[in-house]
Order: sequence, then C-alpha cells, then structure tokens
Amino acid sequence: MSRNYHETKRILVTGGAGFLGSHLCDRLLEQGHEVICLDNFFTGRRGNVAHLLQHPNFELMRHDVTFPLFIEVDEIYNLACPASPIHYQHDPVQTTKTSVHGAINMLGLAKRLGAKILQASTSEVYGDPDVHPQTEEYWGRVNPIGPRSCYDEGKRCAETLFFDYHRQHGLKIKVARIFNTYGPRMHPADGRVVSNFIVQALRGEPITLYGSGEQTRSFCYVDDLIDGLMRLMNSPDEVTGPVNIGNPGEFSMRQLAELVKEQTGSASELVFHPLPADDPKQRRPDIGKAQALLGWAPRVPLAEGLAPTIDYFRSAI
Ligand code: NAD
Ligand code: UDP
Ligand code: UDP
Repeated sequence: MSRNYHETKRILVTGGAGFLGSHLCDRLLEQGHEVICLDNFFTGRRGNVAHLLQHPNFELMRHDVTFPLFIEVDEIYNLACPASPIHYQHDPVQTTKTSVHGAINMLGLAKRLGAKILQASTSEVYGDPDVHPQTEEYWGRVNPIGPRSCYDEGKRCAETLFFDYHRQHGLKIKVARIFNTYGPRMHPADGRVVSNFIVQALRGEPITLYGSGEQTRSFCYVDDLIDGLMRLMNSPDEVTGPVNIGNPGEFSMRQLAELVKEQTGSASELVFHPLPADDPKQRRPDIGKAQALLGWAPRVPLAEGLAPTIDYFRSAI
C-alpha cells in the first residue's frame, strides 16, 4: 500500500543527476510526485538538475548507493551506475560495487518500506550476442574477466539479486534492460558513439570509427526510454520483467557517422581506430514484450531525435 493516502508518491531516483535520471526526475515532477534525487556526482552533474533545485517537490541528496540509506519513499528507480565504457572502466571495482552493493542496499530499503523498485539493467547482459535480435529469454554471451565485465557482470548480478529478493522476500520488482539511449544532457566527454560523433562533427574534427564501422547498435531517444521505464514501474505487480526497452531501428556505426555529418553539415573526414576489446558486433532489441505488456513502442526515429541532441551539444561545447 502506498505510504500516502493520495495519488502523489514520494519517489527515489538513484543516479538522478545523470543523463537518464535527470529526465526521469523532470517527468515524475510533471506528474505531481515528490522526487528525491540521489547521486554521488561521479558522472552526473548538478547542472542536469539545476532547473529543479527550487521546485517545491524536489530534493537533491549527495550519497553513494554502496552505503546504506535510511529514508522513507514509496517507489525506487535504481539508476545509479556509470554507463559509458570510459567511465565504468575508470574504477572497475567501484563499478561492480555500485551495481552489486548498490542493489543490495536499495533492495534492503525497498524491503523495509514495502516499496516497489525498478532496476535500470542493460542490453550489456546479452554481451556479444549470438542471438539476433535479442529477446529476454536469451541468456547472453558475456566474458566474465574482460574490461567490460565490471559493468556487464555487475548488472547481471544485480538482476539476480532483484529476482531473489522477489522470490525470497516477495518484493515488487521491475527490471528494464535498456538499449543504447541518446539525447540532450548526455555527457559530452563520455566517449560514447553518439556524443563522440556529434562533438567531432561540430568541431570539424575527424570522426573516429572503431574497427570497420560495420558493427551495429540500436539507438533510442531519451523521451521514449523514460516513457518505457515509467510504464514498466506502473504496470501490474506480476509484470516483473526483464523487459527490453530500446528502439529496434538498427544502424552500423558508419551509417550513424554519415547521418551525423549530414545533420550537422560537417565536412569532418572519417578515420578508423582499433576496435576495443569485447566490443559487441551487433545489437538490436526484440521489443515484443514491451509492446504486449506495457503497450509501449518508441516513437522517435534516429534521424528525428538527432536534431535536438545536436542542438544540445552545440550549446554544451
Ligand atoms: P550517467 O552516467 O549519466 O548516470 C549515472 C548516474 O549515477 C550519474 O549521475 C552518476 O553520478 C551516478 N552514480 C554512479 N555511481 C554512483 C554511486 N555509487 N552512488 C550514487 N550515484 C552514482 O548514465 P545514464 O546513461 O544516465 O545511465 C543511467 C542508468 O541506465 C545506469 O544504471 C546505466 O547502466 C543504465 N543504462 C543506460 C544506457 C544508456 O544508453 N544511457 C543503456 C543501458 C543502461
Ligand atoms: N538497508 C538500507 N536501508 C534500509 C534497509 C536496509 O540501506 O532501510 C541496507 C542494509 O545495509 C542491509 C541491506 O540493505 O545490509 C540489505 O538489507 P536486508 O534487510 O535485505 O538484509 P540484512 O539487513 O539482513 O543484511
Ligand atoms: N564507437 C565508435 N567510435 C567512437 C565511439 C564508439 O566507432 O568514437 C563504437 C564502439 O566501438 C561500439 C559502438 O560505437 O561498437 C557503440 O559504442 P558505445 O560506447 O556508445 O556503446 P556500447 O558499446 O556500450 O553499446
């Protein structure tokens, strides 16, 4: 039962000052909820939520999820975790701790309060997949000891913890497997492909393709992603997930580079760099579950979502 007698809920967003978290805070406040935004500012920025600091229903809290947290909330969105390879490989032990100890603490909090809790998991749980497109039934192909493992295995263990707290303690859980997402407030220096290409194109610098540039990804616009997460949180209790949330449109990195060049009007040349270790060759979500269970599908195609993203980077750099 909700801790409040009215519709308004008090909602904790961990990683709330990050790219996705800050958009989620915006949307929850728009719906009239009270939002506690928790962040240790490892990759998140106060600037992402600066416009919310005076909002009467918004509270910003500096805290690291690897430490216990005692507050009172109705719902928890657990997004705390660096998401880009350069950031999560900077301190890999802390990355695994954030996923695993962070999940234990947030699940412990949810258990004490009887609160519903959603985990921001990732398509990385599928690793370098040999099933394409990826369905939720696929168990993945993940290297347990490589440079990406701190993130991939941390997220996989967090999923395990969510399902064990559900089975063992009856917690109301939701697990979203998020595929590559882009949009305003991405960190300009996070090294991810969308941010790199746009920043390089705007500066007239060479666009760096890793490997042959033939590897594929599917890119979801941030507004669609947040809509999917909120629908999952508000779905019936028996819908635990995991549910893929992403845009099934699949592009090679070379296609993405051409699209970015076209939309920025940039004359940047394409240059080729070595492919990083364990870089997945292809990735595309099967979103049949999200469509059937949540009535959700993305609305913004890549060519459309790039425009506001490019505008954001133009003012950010
Ligand atoms: P982000 O780096 O912008 O946001 C993560 C936030 O978590 C940051 O604000 C960071 O400071 C905070 N954080 C990191 N460690 C913390 C800790 N120990 N305690 C408290 N806060 C901590 O990344 P994002 O793209 O907004 O990703 C949000 C979530 O979604 C992450 O869990 C990520 O794994 C997941 N995800 C994102 C994508 C994507 O394409 N953006 C894809 C799959 C999954
Ligand atoms: N925890 C927390 N806030 C709470 C309740 C628990 O941060 O309100 C943390 C606490 O550190 C604990 C962990 O969550 O170790 C797991 O809690 P749980 O009740 O599942 O296990 P236990 O307390 O028995 O270790
Ligand atoms: N990539 C690239 N150039 C860059 C950055 C990334 O070609 O400047 C490639 C990277 O090798 C990967 C894809 O783009 O194949 C997506 O990389 P990103 O780090 O954005 O996400 P992830 O690999 O986690 O899906």
